[in-house]
Amino acid sequence: MLVYHLPGTFETREDHLDLLWEAGATGLEERAGLIRAYFDEETELPPLIRDGEWRQEADQDWLAEFKANLRPVQAGRVTIVPPWLRAEIPAGQVGLVIEPGMAFGTGHHATTRMAVEALSDLKLDGQTILDVGTGSGVLAIAGALLGAGYALGVDIDPITIPIAGENARDNAVPEGRTAFMVGTLGDDLPGDVVADGVFDVLVANLYAELHDLLVGAYVGHLRPGGPLILTGILTGKLPLVQDALDREGFTDVQVRTDGEWALVTARA
Ligand code: SAM
Repeated sequence: MLVYHLPGTFETREDHLDLLWEAGATGLEERAGLIRAYFDEETELPPLIRDGEWRQEADQDWLAEFKANLRPVQAGRVTIVPPWLRAEIPAGQVGLVIEPGMAFGTGHHATTRMAVEALSDLKLDGQTILDVGTGSGVLAIAGALLGAGYALGVDIDPITIPIAGENARDNAVPEGRTAFMVGTLGDDLPGDVVADGVFDVLVANLYAELHDLLVGAYVGHLRPGGPLILTGILTGKLPLVQDALDREGFTDVQVRTDGEWALVTARA
C-alpha cells in the first residue's frame, strides 16, 4: 500500500486537498497531525505539496481489525455475539449468535440493540411476530429465542433472506419458528401460520419517513392491543413518527433514546 504522508491536517491544508485528488490520490485520511493520501503509484506532485514523504506500508486488513474489536452486546435478556465469542454469553442470558456480514443487524447499532431490548421486555411465549426490514434476521431470531411461536422477517433486499435463514440455523431455531421472505407490507405474506396476516407483535427498524408512510399498514397487520416497536428513528424526526401514530389511533406511545437514535413503542 503506497501512502504519501503530508504534514498538517485537513483544516490547515484545506487548499491543498484538491491538489492531492488531482494528482491521483484514491483516498485521504487524517491521523496524528498527518494527512495520509493513498496512491496506486508514485507520481510527480505539484510544488505546494512536495513537503511530504512517500511510504510503502503493509496492507491493513480492515475486516480482520473490525472483527477483532467486536464485543458481546447485551440487550435486556439477550446477549448478541459473533460466532467466535459464543463462550462469552453470560449464564442466564439468551445467547444470539450473528455472523457479521452483508446484512445490517449485528447488534452493534443502537437501533438493533434497543429493538432487541424492547422485544425482551415482552412476554413472547407462543406469540407471532412480524419483523419489517429484517436484515440479518436479528430481531425475528431474537423473538423466536425469547419464546415466540413464529417470527416472519420481510425485507426488500433479496441479499438478506438467505443470510437471515443461515443465522436462524446457526442459532438452532427449530424449523418453522422463523421464516424470511423478500418483500414489504402490502405484499402477500405467507398465510401458512398467520392466515389473516395479523400478528401479535410488529417490530420494524427502518427510518422515520418510512414509518410515517407504513403506519397505516402496521394497523392492518397488528392485533388490537398488540405491541408495536419502531426504531431507526433519528431523535430529530420523532415528531413525524409520533404524529403518524396519533393519526392512526395508536395508544401508550413511549420513547427511549440512545445518542441520536430513538425507539418508539405503542399499542394498536
Ligand atoms: N432488522 C435489522 C436490525 O434491526 O438490525 C436490520 C434493520 S436495517 C436498519 C433496515 C432493513 O430494512 C434493511 O435490510 C433494508 O433492506 C430493509 N428495508 C428498507 N426499506 C424497506 C421496506 N420498505 N420494506 C421492507 N424492508 C425494507
